[in-house]
Amino acid sequence: MTHPFLDLPPLSAARFASIEDRVARLLATEQDVVIMQGEALLPLEGAIRAAAGPGTTALNVITGPYGQTFGNWLRDCGATVYDLSVPYHTAVTAAQVREAFAEHPEIDFVSLVHAEAATGNTNPVAEIGEAVREQGALFYLDAVASVGAEPVLPDEWGVDLCVIGAQKAMGGPAGVSAVSVSERAWTRMAANPRAPRRSYLSLLDWKERWIDGGRKALLHAPAQLEMLALEACVERIEAAGLDAVMARHRAAAAATRAGARALGGGLEPYVHQAAEAAPVATTLRAPSGVSASGLVARALAANPALPLAAGGGPLAEEMIRVNHYGPDATREVVEATMAALGTALAADRGSEVDVTGAQSAVAAAWQ
Ligand SMILES: *Cc1c(COP(=O)(O)O)cnc(C)c1O
Repeated sequence: MTHPFLDLPPLSAARFASIEDRVARLLATEQDVVIMQGEALLPLEGAIRAAAGPGTTALNVITGPYGQTFGNWLRDCGATVYDLSVPYHTAVTAAQVREAFAEHPEIDFVSLVHAEAATGNTNPVAEIGEAVREQGALFYLDAVASVGAEPVLPDEWGVDLCVIGAQKAMGGPAGVSAVSVSERAWTRMAANPRAPRRSYLSLLDWKERWIDGGRKALLHAPAQLEMLALEACVERIEAAGLDAVMARHRAAAAATRAGARALGGGLEPYVHQAAEAAPVATTLRAPSGVSASGLVARALAANPALPLAAGGGPLAEEMIRVNHYGPDATREVVEATMAALGTALAADRGSEVDVTGAQSAVAAAWQ
């Protein structure tokens, strides 16, 4: 008997290239798309180390935990880094980015996270992209949590390095990831003597040995199962239609916000403005005096399958994360999550909690 995971023929270069092309179509990009053989942190780190060096002046926007990490990599590369931090309950604005450029006209690199699954906010990349273009800086974007949940358009927005992973709204594997690379970005990397070469982190290796060679020979054996899973996941999105997949995530976010408000008991959306709330995941603020991690633990004890988590690190006591992405971006999951949170919250807040009202609000918002 052949085993469906184990007894596979080798993944050909042509198949690998065709998967890259499908990912490029998903991003509506004409740029080169490189599929990296690791979780999204691989291209996220690889792109920064390739593009930044001691001569770089970077504006690093921090709207969640990943921005912190990017700033550390940039400093590690010898770049001069100006951090622009905004509170996690909001988004950064193009005006704030322009102010930073006015203050530091030498900025030639901008790093930004599009949507933050960990904090639940999303940033206006199209508007920020316009400002970055005027500045002439290289634009690096982490779109891991936005792709599949909301439009990600590197060409239209002038993004030079756009990193995606399939494990969030795409409902795909975590073990491979992709980055679209503009001509400008390749030029910047080629001119950087410190850019990783002959290294697993190296994007230039893929450029020189894979892309420039006409994508005929792979650098090493690909992560075969993950590549097949990525192909299947893009196929599934194509079959459903990207717009329909994004609409499902938008509905899940709207329904979760409406449901939490209707539930009462002091539960509130963590991100104040709906327009700044990410479609991929919704964060909620626990009522004062109620521990978010305790509430999540009680809800999960009742229903371990729910996509619930407490905020990371110092946010664990105040933030509840509803990770309604991929297969969990459904009305049933949102309803079950509200019911479980309501029951758990009733232990603290009793009659203030209105589970029936929350279910009606979810149903109304889902339309
Ligand atoms: C999820 C995510 C990643 C990938 O990190 P994992 O925690 O390993 O899944 C990268 N960037 C952002 C903004 C993410 O939300």
